[in-house]
Amino acid sequence: MILDLLTTVIQPSELGSVVRLKLSGLQNKNYNAPLTELAGKLDDREFCYAALNKVSRSFAVVIQHLPGDLQDAVCIFYLVLRGLDSIEDDMSIPLEKKLHLLRSFNELSKQRGWNITGTGDKEDYRQLLADYQKVTNVYLQLKPDYRLVIDNITKQMGHGMADFAEKNVKTVGDYDLYCHYVAGLVGIGLSGLFSASGYEHAGLEQQKTIANSMGLFLQKTNIVRDYFEDIQSGRTFWPEEVWSQYAEKLEDFKKSPESAASLACLNHLVTDALQHVPDCIVYMKMIQNPQVFRFCAIPQVMAMATMAKIYDNPDVYRSVVKIRKGLAARLMLETNDMESLTYFLEKFTYKLMRKLQPEDPNYLLAKKRLHRIIEAIDATRVTPAIMPDLNDNIEQSVLF
Ligand code: MG
Repeated sequence: MILDLLTTVIQPSELGSVVRLKLSGLQNKNYNAPLTELAGKLDDREFCYAALNKVSRSFAVVIQHLPGDLQDAVCIFYLVLRGLDSIEDDMSIPLEKKLHLLRSFNELSKQRGWNITGTGDKEDYRQLLADYQKVTNVYLQLKPDYRLVIDNITKQMGHGMADFAEKNVKTVGDYDLYCHYVAGLVGIGLSGLFSASGYEHAGLEQQKTIANSMGLFLQKTNIVRDYFEDIQSGRTFWPEEVWSQYAEKLEDFKKSPESAASLACLNHLVTDALQHVPDCIVYMKMIQNPQVFRFCAIPQVMAMATMAKIYDNPDVYRSVVKIRKGLAARLMLETNDMESLTYFLEKFTYKLMRKLQPEDPNYLLAKKRLHRIIEAIDATRVTPAIMPDLNDNIEQSVLF
């Protein structure tokens, strides 16, 4: 905390943002008591929002600003998937039991009164699953169109997680498929909820390829950034097909963070993730509601800021590198529309360009991808802001 403050002080304009963020009401409600205590005092819907604040502070802030009944739908969608993910991440569950839970989680989520105790690798996750019947109660009150989307995505994700519970991410194809299951499907599901809400064009739901890219860019950013934390807890998500080009073992990188091979591997994975950014820009151009826009844009702009920070940065092998709090606050406050989003994206793209090293094996590819991002940004500025005819893309549903 003190370190965060110190680094913030260096840039006074950002310190201002932190103060303004606190004053603007954008900060989440404070649920200080443990979830166990809150569970007895709150009704089902309040419990869901308290749980949301506990399990994801950053998402809780943006979800609570969504319009109308879309807010409850996205909150429940998030909690259902968090429940599923807590099962996936709990390494103490015997494999057979885990596979069964993952594959049937969408059915269990619809079953009034269902919950599971002692499951989840963090206290708040365990509590969410122990009081899961409250999530189900609110889920069952959602309108049918919302429930259909949540059910369908939970089923696909559970099956995908089960497939990967038995194997590692080896090839780049595995990497893309795993990220599709755990994040691309979230993008696709959110598009379905946005369309069902009426706040966005009905055809947004059909834009599955670019919605998938929205999820992949965020997920890959987390996976690349979280090397240190994941390796400490014995998990690996970096694709072997990539890291084996630079080291014998994945752990070798943390022994020589500054070596050319270690940095080349990191840069390879950042370069891989950058391929998704132009799709994200096209997706964002389709969003019409300002609150939905902010909800989608803020994580994207944070991810791009993170990429600019971690590229060629040996600290990734020593700790989890995060963007400064002040910068995060500024991005949350100031990313409001296409103009501000592309302003920041462009800024981070040029920051990345300045970090490129001609000696890096992926130098040319990275440069090409950064240029593509600039082209995608420029395209948003010259074409009028109208919705494309989505009926032409109705067949675009096969991803892999
Ligand atoms: Mg997981």
